[in-house]
Amino acid sequence: MKMAAGTQPGNSLSVSADAGNNGRDGDDGHKRPGGTPVVAVAPAGNGSIAHSSHKTALFSGNEAIGLAAWHAGADMAVGYPGTPSTDVLEYIAEITPEPDIYVEWSTNEKVAMDVAMGASLAGKRVIVTTKHVGLNVAMDSLMTSPFIGVNGGVVVFNADDPGMHSSQNEQDNRYIARFAGIPLLEPSDSQEAYDFTRVGFGLSEQWDTPVILRTTTRISHALSKVIPAPAEQHRSGEFRRDPRKYVMLPANARPRHVAHLERLSKMEKWAEEVPFNREELRSRSIGVVTSGVSYQYVRDVLPDASVFKLGLTFPLPRESLTSFASKVDRLFVVEELEPYLEEALRLLGVPVEGKEFFPRYGELSPHLVRVGFQAAGILEPSGETAGETIGGVAGPSLDSVGPRFPLLCSGCSHATPFFVLRELDAVVTGDIGCYTLGATDPLSAMDTCLSMGSSVGMAVGLAKAGSTGGRPVVAVLGDSTFLHAGIPPLIDAVHREANLTVIILDNGTTAMTGGQPNPANAVDIRGRSVPKVDIPAICKAIGVASLAVVDPYDVGATRRAIENAISKEGVSVVVTVRACAESPEKIRGPVYYVDVDGCDGCQLCMNLGCPALVWDLSLDVMPKRVRIDASLCSGCTVCAQICPQGAIFASSSQSVTASTAGAGASVSSNQGERQ
Ligand code: SF4
Ligand code: SF4
Repeated sequence: MKMAAGTQPGNSLSVSADAGNNGRDGDDGHKRPGGTPVVAVAPAGNGSIAHSSHKTALFSGNEAIGLAAWHAGADMAVGYPGTPSTDVLEYIAEITPEPDIYVEWSTNEKVAMDVAMGASLAGKRVIVTTKHVGLNVAMDSLMTSPFIGVNGGVVVFNADDPGMHSSQNEQDNRYIARFAGIPLLEPSDSQEAYDFTRVGFGLSEQWDTPVILRTTTRISHALSKVIPAPAEQHRSGEFRRDPRKYVMLPANARPRHVAHLERLSKMEKWAEEVPFNREELRSRSIGVVTSGVSYQYVRDVLPDASVFKLGLTFPLPRESLTSFASKVDRLFVVEELEPYLEEALRLLGVPVEGKEFFPRYGELSPHLVRVGFQAAGILEPSGETAGETIGGVAGPSLDSVGPRFPLLCSGCSHATPFFVLRELDAVVTGDIGCYTLGATDPLSAMDTCLSMGSSVGMAVGLAKAGSTGGRPVVAVLGDSTFLHAGIPPLIDAVHREANLTVIILDNGTTAMTGGQPNPANAVDIRGRSVPKVDIPAICKAIGVASLAVVDPYDVGATRRAIENAISKEGVSVVVTVRACAESPEKIRGPVYYVDVDGCDGCQLCMNLGCPALVWDLSLDVMPKRVRIDASLCSGCTVCAQICPQGAIFASSSQSVTASTAGAGASVSSNQGERQ
């Protein structure tokens, strides 16, 4: 039985008094790369923008959030790159003129949160962007932010990564919102991503607290229609002293905690009335409570089921949920990751089914939702199965497309340090970045990877424990990660006189997330010239006595620098400096080739893991010979330096002299001419 659309409460969302659908359907958007029309905007002077032209178009959730922040009159957008959240800030920088909104890749997420709170107290609207584990870094400030409150609205955009497409864990950050007592909005398509972002700023100001906007990967990256609303002007405001509210001394924090709890109590009543939650009554035999992308899957798989769709998932509308439960015969919760909603319903004493049919890990999909409802006896079995089974519950297949091991890019400047470390049999604590691929075959030169900056701290622990069987302890992390979270543990290492080596792989960018600038770069997200932080100078200032800077394309120099560093007592640092071969632009030198008559098939070059080095299957000889895929070779020269037979040559006239067997060859290549 289907309910008439007009009887569904809260079916449309009004983001502000003048922000309905009026004026949303103009037809004068300009084209962005790829041809999808976007909203056209025009500077209006005086630091404001007249968003007079709006066009319905396809937007990813992240684009919709960026557009909405601008249309909401945000003065500032700050964050730290992390998939799947990164492109919100990049999109804002792409579509907005510089005077209108300040955009910053902050040093880390906590810095971003603090910058946002400062700007908010000065009366400005700010969006903070982070991936799920990034919010852990911001937690110290986030937890106290509702005590201090806001002046201008603060929207904390958090993108969870179910399935861990590019993350080290799969945490469900709805619990962080509940833990911090911060309102949580969860869009289920790009239109809601746009609307919820815009309304989030107003809610933040209304309730005097930051608001968290949570997406998961599919909402962030899938495209769907967005009808933009008329833009708001920038908020006027200024900082006014209010130490009892802004200075969290215990004497001030105690009454602020009480105020925080009183606000939560009021918000729980408010949650019953907000338009973000809606009851969609259809067949009374099945009811489903859901939110986010799971709502789309449920509508796809069970179009006749009644649904309670949540857009505000903290605080929850307990009375409305209980009422909905009483209207259906059998109640399910469909949600990605943890049983967050399911637990809340059980606490209300509502009989509910959920995680016994739907997996607690990985991404959901229409297929998995269908399989779950088949297992629950709601749908006829179709013979469809999912991949893995944990506790009898079908889950996403972990290897449905077969194993394809990721590799460092051809010409990656990180290959040589790991190649050397493997030969030196070091205990290597790794970190978060594309260089984590140093853990995979054939380099296999990383023993741990925990979280941002943890390489150095773990190395301190290993060195102090002193039980590595005589193997040297080496921490490896990138430039952006060092600045993000590697400095405090380096201070610890020096101050505690730990015996270890730190290798900072400085490739001039935050490569893993697409090449964002970091404080060690001389440009910012808008390409403006900015002061550059000097990483070796930081190390010296901390008190590192042994410091070397080396070009990782010079295999011999890199080997000598690492060996020398390891031989020193105390903390030694090697900074390898060479631009990423792929980002922000591809760097290519003359292509290299293998002289089949010189190659004896020793396989040493294959240990680099360069994708351009492949087995030559056209030759009927054993051991197999190697050839270079010219379409992949970036001309880095490294394989030519390590070939003991001197069998690898540049395709142009310059030569590479393998003066010694293995690593340590001398080079006379055209490194300086790389484009
Ligand atoms: S290192 Fe040289 S000799 Fe050994 S397989 Fe590679 S190209 Fe052939
Ligand atoms: S020169 Fe050798 S190591 Fe460098 S990209 Fe080409 S094949 Fe790979």
